[in-house]
Amino acid sequence: MTYTLTTPLYYVNDRAHLGSAYTTLACDAIARYHRLMGDAVVFITGCDEHGQKIQRTAEAAGLSPQAHCDLVSASYQELWQNWQISNDRFIRTTDPRHRRIVEQFFARVEANGDIREGRQQGWYCVACEEFKDDPAEAQEPSCAIHHKPLEWRDEVNLFFRLSNYQEQIEQLIRRPGFIAPESRRREVENFVAQGLRDFSISRVNLPWGIPVPGHGGHTFYVWFDALLGYLTALLNNDDHVDLDAVSERGWPAQLHVIGKDILRFHAVYWPAMLLSAGLPLPERVFGHGFLTREGQKMGKSLGNVLDPQLLLERCGSDAVRWYLLRDIPFGDDGDFQQQRFVDLVNSDLANTIGNLLNRTIAMARRWFDGAVPDPGEAAGPSHPLAVAAGDACSTYHVAWQRLDFRAAAEAALGLAVAANGYLNEQAPWSRMKQEGQREQVSSDLYAVLEAARLVAQLLAPLVPLMSDRMLAQLPAAPAPWPDQLRWGALTVGAPLPEPTPVMARLELEGQL
Ligand SMILES: [Zn+2]
Repeated sequence: MTYTLTTPLYYVNDRAHLGSAYTTLACDAIARYHRLMGDAVVFITGCDEHGQKIQRTAEAAGLSPQAHCDLVSASYQELWQNWQISNDRFIRTTDPRHRRIVEQFFARVEANGDIREGRQQGWYCVACEEFKDDPAEAQEPSCAIHHKPLEWRDEVNLFFRLSNYQEQIEQLIRRPGFIAPESRRREVENFVAQGLRDFSISRVNLPWGIPVPGHGGHTFYVWFDALLGYLTALLNNDDHVDLDAVSERGWPAQLHVIGKDILRFHAVYWPAMLLSAGLPLPERVFGHGFLTREGQKMGKSLGNVLDPQLLLERCGSDAVRWYLLRDIPFGDDGDFQQQRFVDLVNSDLANTIGNLLNRTIAMARRWFDGAVPDPGEAAGPSHPLAVAAGDACSTYHVAWQRLDFRAAAEAALGLAVAANGYLNEQAPWSRMKQEGQREQVSSDLYAVLEAARLVAQLLAPLVPLMSDRMLAQLPAAPAPWPDQLRWGALTVGAPLPEPTPVMARLELEGQL
């Protein structure tokens, strides 16, 4: 099947922050899992490049909006490459094909009677690109997210008749699994229960946007345009630009992963727009939480922003991926704690998993002619480590269905813990000194190596580089992933290479 998933299209008013990196690497892990399971994955990310805020940021920097967008979106693409992000598509909403998709989409919505003119009065946050329904009664209302003064707007805009979709959206958000996690579903349910109001989809006097066909002076509201980027992204380079073609290229998406602040756009506005245009709806919208740092909100004014590029250079992608995916329950808010980060990476990856592999390969090489030893009784499915591996795999797959990265990581780690326990119990280093124990040692070392190989396979979507380094030391015939997850794929008699560390211990001096 085709599994299409997306990050949000990041707004290029600024460079990527840790929150965008978190969303993107969560999607990357999901994409890798599905590819390994044999699905045809289309993993979409990209940049949202229109709107007033971008125009102002560019002006402040003395650049044209396009030059500004070119710079910032290039920095995103470079960052994602450095993070081993395996996106299949990178869409920029300034792509000329996107303009044509937006025009076609608007034509359908307008033909369906869902566009009207209306006067929009209210307090507007340029940073959110959003009218605020109920700003505090203060004299100068400010945005609760940005803590910046709101601007009073009074203009005639085009509106999308969201109110036409009240019942359909109510039904949709009751559909099990459409909005996850459950706490977020309830937030949206409350919002919808207040009655859906038409929302404006155009701006006047804003040149940095896509012109609305047939409505001179109007450009599309950045959100209307940006959401459609998910459709444009599906087109192949040589495709005829046609809205109907997107269904053949992987629409509807199985999953939109977003931060909880933009849930309303994805779970309410977007489905209504798609219904109006006669296009199928995404299967699931997952709103994850925000990251704080040492218990504090990150912000420029606080001077505590953790730059993802710096984090990558100092610690490597696997260490950060492991910490964020293994420690933060996906969906909840998370707190980046440097000491805990260092401790978990060192204890889980360097010690529990890395040392297991290292010492077992060293023993096998020393005592069994540098090759994978004969499994003997460990070949069978009833060996304790074979049973533990089977259990770990079952837990692991269930965890991925629920996007519970933490449980998936713990399943892999748990198997490594079991293998370490088994090794210490059997103590091959003592047995080798006793008569008639060679067969037992051979079987034990095979079982531990095979468990380590399965750990490496389970780590592949989470920490891909470390997984590769482990698998390079554990000979097995190439096979599709589901076969690689069966007990006994390690090739008996194949040469074992000199063990090399798969994860260096993190030693961080001072605060990152
Ligand atoms: Zn705001």
